Amino acid sequence: MLGARRGQLTTAHGLVDTPAFIPVGTQGSVKATNPRELRELDAQIILGNTYHLFVRPGIEVIQYFGGLHKFMNWNRPILTDSGGYQIFSLAKLRKITEKGVHFQNHVDGKPAFISPEIAMEIQSALGSDIAMVLDECAPYPCERDYAGRSAEMTARWAARCKRAVDVSPTNPSAAADTTANQLLFGIVQGATFEDLRRSSAQAIVDLDFDGYAIGGVSVGEPEEEMMCAVESAEPCLPKHKPRYAMGLGTPPQLLEMIARGIDMFDCVLPTRLARNGTAFTASGTINLKNAEFALDKSPIEENCVCPTCREFARGYVRHLIKAEEILGLRLITLHNLHFYLDLMNRARTEIERGTFDQFRREFVMGYKVRDVDLAASVGEAVSFPPNKPRR
Ligand SMILES: [Zn+2]
Repeated sequence: MLGARRGQLTTAHGLVDTPAFIPVGTQGSVKATNPRELRELDAQIILGNTYHLFVRPGIEVIQYFGGLHKFMNWNRPILTDSGGYQIFSLAKLRKITEKGVHFQNHVDGKPAFISPEIAMEIQSALGSDIAMVLDECAPYPCERDYAGRSAEMTARWAARCKRAVDVSPTNPSAAADTTANQLLFGIVQGATFEDLRRSSAQAIVDLDFDGYAIGGVSVGEPEEEMMCAVESAEPCLPKHKPRYAMGLGTPPQLLEMIARGIDMFDCVLPTRLARNGTAFTASGTINLKNAEFALDKSPIEENCVCPTCREFARGYVRHLIKAEEILGLRLITLHNLHFYLDLMNRARTEIERGTFDQFRREFVMGYKVRDVDLAASVGEAVSFPPNKPRR
């Protein structure tokens, strides 16, 4: 196993220090925050959800504004997902074929089609710094036959994505620009089957991407299976390219993944949990709705330097949440994002000092994971009963 590593990823909009946490900006906004606040929190990169932006406001609107960076006034790196995961978790009447995915969007039910080539066109129009290939994320639990066929199709789709950005017969110069400016990451699938994870990783690495993501993790599987999925794929990934575990995770999971050679993470937990009053601390999450915090004059976490903890007491934040004041969820969101970004900052420093493993052990021992937090990390906030949450 490779072990924790400290790196830097160069993108068209600047450097990303790794290990890195990527706040999730679903609809062109990291929920409840202003891009200026994200810069002040020292977020170096954010994620934009292709599916959501494709459905609303539509790619033409974002192109009209000059791309996603200009549209949302964020001048640092952006990673866009391919949209596949949201199509599988949100859209209705999906039909997956070798060509691509037919679906009806969850907003107005309009039918649409996304193929590997179209996913590349959309992300090129968004102008993200890192684009992801279109993949199929197998659900959990998943039959071995299905997982195998799905991973093989994902590899064929990955090859089509690569070809689409390498050669664009309609506009060769645009294609050249895209490949010069936009990095393209492949995605390893294979569900919870070690051999499928290995063969998927090998097939994706053979296509030579700028970085490699491990998808289909944190979809509701037990943590041991998630670690096993990453450990199975990891030895097949080239050492000199970034590795990205998609949709993870709790703070201890991030540190365990870093120890397994993973460089990048995105997760809705800090922003999603904030909206139900849950704040992260070094000993685990606390729910500020609880009565015990009503007269608490201390900050969410002692010694935290985030804008919330510098100015406000738990008792006040609790009042805002109970009174359903927007400021309450904004304050917790800022604290939670700071917590995740600071954890990565700390991890980077500890790796540089050669003390990461000790730091990880102590942190994980002192942090109590609540099941309710784990449940919140899976799937989309908006979900339709017939669809299983996937990633
Ligand atoms: Zn704080």
